Amino acid sequence: MKAWVVDSPGPIDANPLVHVERPVPVPGAGEVRLHVRTCGVCRTDLHLAEGDLTPRHHRVVPGHEVVGIVDRLGPGTERFREGDRVGVPWLAWTCGVCRFCTAGRENLCTDLRFTGWDIDGGYTEYAVVNEEFAYAIPERFTDEEAAPLLCAGIIGYRALRRSRLPAGGRLGIYGFGGSAHLAAQIAMGEGARVHVVTRSAAARDLAARLGAVSVGDGTAGPPEPLDSAILFAPVGTLVPPALEALERGGTLAIAGIHLTDIPSLNYERHLFEERVLCSVTANTRQDGHEFLEAAAALPVRVSTVAYGMDRANRALADLAHDQVDGAAVLVNPW
Ligand SMILES: [Zn+2]
Ligand SMILES: [Zn+2]
Repeated sequence: MKAWVVDSPGPIDANPLVHVERPVPVPGAGEVRLHVRTCGVCRTDLHLAEGDLTPRHHRVVPGHEVVGIVDRLGPGTERFREGDRVGVPWLAWTCGVCRFCTAGRENLCTDLRFTGWDIDGGYTEYAVVNEEFAYAIPERFTDEEAAPLLCAGIIGYRALRRSRLPAGGRLGIYGFGGSAHLAAQIAMGEGARVHVVTRSAAARDLAARLGAVSVGDGTAGPPEPLDSAILFAPVGTLVPPALEALERGGTLAIAGIHLTDIPSLNYERHLFEERVLCSVTANTRQDGHEFLEAAAALPVRVSTVAYGMDRANRALADLAHDQVDGAAVLVNPW
């Protein structure tokens, strides 16, 4: 089968993903194999391709928003049948026995493994997944719409929960790409007033169409104090102004896996009066099930830009240069 792999990480414009031929994987015990239909392009894939994240093994296949059709069952599987449409997310495996797993915090498992980083992902024709970590895909979403739900959607949902937004509260969203536009809709569906700050004019238009109360480019802060904020842009210099925009007692959650350095903070201006700054690390399977249920109930509108699977480097380059209006999705012709 054809597959993209990370060969030597570096600037995306030099095309760090290379095209290889691989044997079709055989599902092991507890695993199912999918024929890949679509795979979302996440910013984490870009961090991996460019070397901001160190590959966990050489020539890993990226991609952790994989939608496919089960075409082979490994020994001992029971959740899915051949022909089922299944999604493969970022969280690939947790140990189940460490202090975090047993406390319902498997996102902090000390032996966590990730799709498209520890184990091969979806920039290819066939992928295998441990069935316990796969999701059934709600019928109302197409293959292209469903892909971004699997990381962008789930992580955005966890970030929203980590931001401790009160009912009917005022939420600031900094950066408005694949993850943010989904979290914003969940928040609005729950009654929040959403303010969006992004430097992309197209993203500001999308935010306004989806119902944001205000949209801005960051030259001025949001027009009212925020109960909660989520930083989706991987830009540490946005942390101080986002903290300053919070109401006393407010929370800023940082959603990304990578962030440029945060400038020094001033205790009185940025943190005093019980402002909280927190990170978001992966997600639990519970987050995933809750999000997919909420997304299907609304339903969320998923803004995607399709690329052929053969154009993975192009899609990553467009993401790097903020030229993707919504979520990039690789569609498999293979
Ligand atoms: Zn664990
Ligand atoms: Zn991701």
